[in-house]
Amino acid sequence: MDELLLIPGPTPVPAPVREAGSRPMTNHRSEAFARVLRGVLDGVAELYRTRQPVVPYASSGTGVLEAAVVNTLSPGDRVLALSCGAFGDRFSRIARTYGAEVTHVEVEWGTGIPPELLEEHLRQAPYRAVLVTHNETSTGVQNDLAALARARGDHPALLLVDAVSSLGAIPLETDRWGLDVVVTASQKALGCPPGVGFLVASPRAWEAYRTSRMPRYYWDMGLVVEALQKPLAQTPFTPAVSVFYSLEASLKLLRAEGLEAVWERHRRLSEATRAGVRALGLRPVADDRWASWTVTAVWLPEGVSGSELVGRMGEQHGVVLAGGQGKLEGRVFRIGHLGYVWPQDILRCMEALGLVLKDLGLAVDPQAGVRAAREVLEAQAARAG
Ligand SMILES: *Cc1c(COP(=O)(O)O)cnc(C)c1O
Repeated sequence: MDELLLIPGPTPVPAPVREAGSRPMTNHRSEAFARVLRGVLDGVAELYRTRQPVVPYASSGTGVLEAAVVNTLSPGDRVLALSCGAFGDRFSRIARTYGAEVTHVEVEWGTGIPPELLEEHLRQAPYRAVLVTHNETSTGVQNDLAALARARGDHPALLLVDAVSSLGAIPLETDRWGLDVVVTASQKALGCPPGVGFLVASPRAWEAYRTSRMPRYYWDMGLVVEALQKPLAQTPFTPAVSVFYSLEASLKLLRAEGLEAVWERHRRLSEATRAGVRALGLRPVADDRWASWTVTAVWLPEGVSGSELVGRMGEQHGVVLAGGQGKLEGRVFRIGHLGYVWPQDILRCMEALGLVLKDLGLAVDPQAGVRAAREVLEAQAARAG
C-alpha cells in the first residue's frame, strides 16, 4: 500500500523532485552550483512576486522566522504580535526571546485576524513591527493578508509575515501588497524535502536591517546577499545542496502548471475536503470565511480519540494525517492538502475516513464523504470547462 502523506508539511515529494535530490554531491562553490542557486532563487522570486533578492538559509521555517526578527528589530522595540494559533504564538515568542517588547494579541482559535483589529492597535502605540501568520496551520485558518496589509496602510510599522504554509499555494503578492518580510520553507507548498528556508525583505526592511541591533551571525541576511552577489554566486555557509537540486526540479513542475493554476488547485481541494468531512457529520474548526486552502482542521467527534483516528487512517489505509497542536491537541485532527496533492488524494482520504469512522462505531454512511467531495470536484471541473 502506497503511503499518502496528507500532513501540512512535510508534503509529498514527487518522483522527479526526489530523484533530482539524489544526484551525487557536488562542490557548492562551483560554476555549476552557482547556476542552480541563481535559477532556484529566480524561480522562488516568481512565487514571492517580488523583485527583491531571495535570501536562502539551510534551515526549517522556524529558523527563518527568527531571521525575520533579528534582521529588522532591536531589543526594546515595540512589536505587535497578532496570533490566531500555535504558529502565531511561536512567532511572538521568538520576538520576545530576542528582547522585543511584544504586545501579544490573540483571537479565538478557529477565526482569523480582523483587519480592524490591526488598525485599532496601530493607533494605540508606536509599534516598530507587526507579526502575522498568513495561513495558521494549527487551526486551518487563512488570514486575508491583502486586507491586513491595507489596514497597516502608511503606518511605519514593518509587516513581518509567516507564509510558510501559504507561499506557492495561496495568492500572495510580496511587492504589490507592500509586505516587509516574508518567510517560507522548502517542505510545504514547494513539495521538497525539508532543509531550505527563504526570506524576502522589502527596501524598507533592508533599511531597518542597517540600524537593527539584535544579535545575529548565521541569520545575517546581509552576509547572504553579499555572498550571492559575488562573481561566483554562493551562500556564506554550506547550503542544503541536495534540496536545491530538488527545488530546481519542483520549480520546473510548478512553472509548467502555472502559479495561478496551482493556487486554484489548492482552493478546490480545500472546498472538496470541507464538503467531504461535513458529509461525514464532522465540523471544520474554521468557518468558511477563514477556510484555509492548504490545511483543514476538523473537530474530533464526541468520544473519538485523535491518536486512534489518525493511527487507524495510517495503519489501515496508508493515509497519514496530523493530530492537533497546542491548545487543540487531542481535540482536532488535520488534513493537509498542500503541495503536490491532487483530487484523487482527497477522494482516497475521504473513502478511508468514512470507513474509519464507521469502524470507530459512528453512525455514518462511510461513502458519504467521498461522494460529497467528488460532487464538489466534478462541479468545479464542469465550471472550469
Ligand atoms: C510548518 C510551519 C512553520 C515552520 O515549521 P518548521 O517545522 O520550523 O519548518 C512555520 N509556520 C507555519 C505557519 C507552518 O505551517
